[in-house]
Amino acid sequence: MRILIIEDEVDLASALRRALEKFGIACDLASDGRDGLYQAQTVGYDALILDLMLPGLDGRALLRQLRERKRTPVLVLTARDALRDKVDLLNGGADDYLTKPFAIEELLARLGSLIRRAAQEPRPTLEVGTVRIDSVARTVTREGVPVALTPKEYALVEYLALHRGEVVSHSRIYEHLYDDREDTLSNVVDVYICNVRRKLGRDFVRTRRGEGYVVDA
Ligand code: CA
Repeated sequence: MRILIIEDEVDLASALRRALEKFGIACDLASDGRDGLYQAQTVGYDALILDLMLPGLDGRALLRQLRERKRTPVLVLTARDALRDKVDLLNGGADDYLTKPFAIEELLARLGSLIRRAAQEPRPTLEVGTVRIDSVARTVTREGVPVALTPKEYALVEYLALHRGEVVSHSRIYEHLYDDREDTLSNVVDVYICNVRRKLGRDFVRTRRGEGYVVDA
């Protein structure tokens, strides 16, 4: 999963990034509305976290322009508590909102729910053969037995499972697992696929030569 945080309060943005990275979620930051809009339009993010009061271009205008082209799920951070504002936000293209201050657990839960909805996956538990993925607890079992995955391995398994039945290219996996600061070797995806097969079975992910990887629907 890869998220863009558009927030000009640098301390809050970095704290959010640190918290999300612990769960294997790759995060990019933008502290200005114009930069944020550009990044959101050019990178295939799984979701955006958007502050409303931003320099350059405010959050509402950003959302309006983004919605002309992209359906990326957007969670708005708002300092306001007025019902009218919330209604306007949801009508203006936001998928959900959180009023500051908020607990990181709530942010994670709402993000997870937005991403599942975007993947048309209403249930928090995904099943692929004998593998069960609990996207709330972020745990995986195989034939009922817990499997220890690193946060990045979990992120890969969840991403493939949310898109099961689709051939997912190497570069798409890379784009969704790494942020713009990570200068990782390009074979890292193959290494993770290999680890996941070792832990969840060879047949969990199939290779489509020259196209990418697929988890059976
Ligand atoms: Ca702000």
